Amino acid sequence: MTYYVWHDEGCCDNSRDDLAQAREIKQQLLADGHSDAYITDSDHNVVDEDYIECSYCERRAVALLPQSSDQGKTISMVHCCGAHRVGWWDGADWDGRTLEVELHDSHSDLRETSMSDQIFSGIYPCGIVYADRHREKGGDYARLAFLPYDSLELKVEADCPPELRKQIESDAATIQARRGELFQISSAGQTVMLGCK
Ligand SMILES: [Zn+2]
Repeated sequence: MTYYVWHDEGCCDNSRDDLAQAREIKQQLLADGHSDAYITDSDHNVVDEDYIECSYCERRAVALLPQSSDQGKTISMVHCCGAHRVGWWDGADWDGRTLEVELHDSHSDLRETSMSDQIFSGIYPCGIVYADRHREKGGDYARLAFLPYDSLELKVEADCPPELRKQIESDAATIQARRGELFQISSAGQTVMLGCK
């Protein structure tokens, strides 16, 4: 898993394969006076304080799942990503589904959009990132556009295909039309004011 360190308006500075190193860079950026710094993983999840890796791979854990080798008499809880959760109870000789604990959802699940599946749109601390799932750049989805919450000025990349640009512009318009409203940016209820600049 690669961790990307960002600051201010969607500027990616650095990437590290080690989360502890990425957190150090973030701390340094904040110490250097940047107003905002944050980390995302290769799946575009924001790595906040409650970010935990799956116990079996490097993806973000979405749930705490119980496991037991004695039909539930003694139980240990394991962090699982979505992929590892799918087959969790297959072939299990007991059922502890009622003990499952849901973890913090991915930020990108907060908003319904009508865009094509090719376009990834993620809610980040400073704005909405649009990226192309069909193209890679530097081991990540190629970025198509960025919509900062403060200016609401859509910045489209020069190599964004015209048909995707149209969809992004109409999606961005629905956000731009909400200038002055509070917009939820995390499932914990954190909000920002749209168009405050
Ligand atoms: Zn996993």
